[in-house]
Amino acid sequence: MRAAVFDSATATPGAWLSIEEIPRPEPKPGEVLVKVLACGVCRTDLHIVERDLKPLKPRIIPGHQIVGEVVEGATATLPAGTRVGVSWIGGVDGDCWFCRHGMENLCDHPVFTGYSVNGGYAEFAAVRADFANPLPAGLEPIHAAPLLCAGVIGFRSLRVAGVERGERVGLYGFGSSASLAIRILHSWDCQVYVVTRGERHRKAAESLGAAWVGDEDAKPPVELDRAITFAPAGKVVIDALAALRKGGVVAINAIHLDQMPAFDYDRLLWGERQLRSVANMTRQDARDFLTLARDLNFRPAVATFSLDDANRALEAVKHETADGSAVIML
Ligand SMILES: [Zn+2]
Ligand SMILES: [Zn+2]
Repeated sequence: MRAAVFDSATATPGAWLSIEEIPRPEPKPGEVLVKVLACGVCRTDLHIVERDLKPLKPRIIPGHQIVGEVVEGATATLPAGTRVGVSWIGGVDGDCWFCRHGMENLCDHPVFTGYSVNGGYAEFAAVRADFANPLPAGLEPIHAAPLLCAGVIGFRSLRVAGVERGERVGLYGFGSSASLAIRILHSWDCQVYVVTRGERHRKAAESLGAAWVGDEDAKPPVELDRAITFAPAGKVVIDALAALRKGGVVAINAIHLDQMPAFDYDRLLWGERQLRSVANMTRQDARDFLTLARDLNFRPAVATFSLDDANRALEAVKHETADGSAVIML
């Protein structure tokens, strides 16, 4: 099969991946072989090939937003031909404390698709059957692929924040993840208050029906029940806390924050306000989100690339030149 391979010893900037003919993977017990139809390109893939994330294997096929069709290893729940979506968490140990307590997103020994095991920049991928999420009928591969990472985590953020129907919710930062979140929130009859830098992002929030939109120094005109922060900046987290009612929650959707500034406990956290981070996702998050994406007819804008152009796809993510999410179509 053809695959785009990252070799950590020989890769050079801009030519991170080499397109190679390699043996088709043999699914091990508990795995299915999927024929890849589309694979989204995530910023994390760029961190992998630029070695910001330490290589775990000398050679790896990246890609953790895989949409494919089961062709081998079919099971009763995954008959041959089933369309599935595979995300960053490609497996967990199932027996650590976190797995046993319904928190598999925090597993001590997770498998990372396209990082600790081969991913979807290839014609075929062997994936764990129990982490191959069936795609709801009606959700096309090209639309599903870019939803499988940031989309699911954005959805999880709403859960971590504990959003309930009809609440007032703040979104701090308004990129692609937040623009999906606002549509979910509207389907739950929530009013959405958006704080973001950049005229383009503010316009986008207005056009998607935000109740109020302000720039990065503005404060929503009402007290918020919940807030989700998307920007990797501690200041934004403090701003969100300052807009919260008593008992409200801020969920931080960021893997890294520059730093948390010192803040006034009495004014900002007292009153049972909560500050929570959001880490990875569970299979249930992915499945619930994909169903919602189908019901709400999510069709994210995508820029498509062939497997031969995988480096160009990464380049487009790096320089944010693509008009929409980059997706490799097989
Ligand atoms: Zn575990
Ligand atoms: Zn990702």
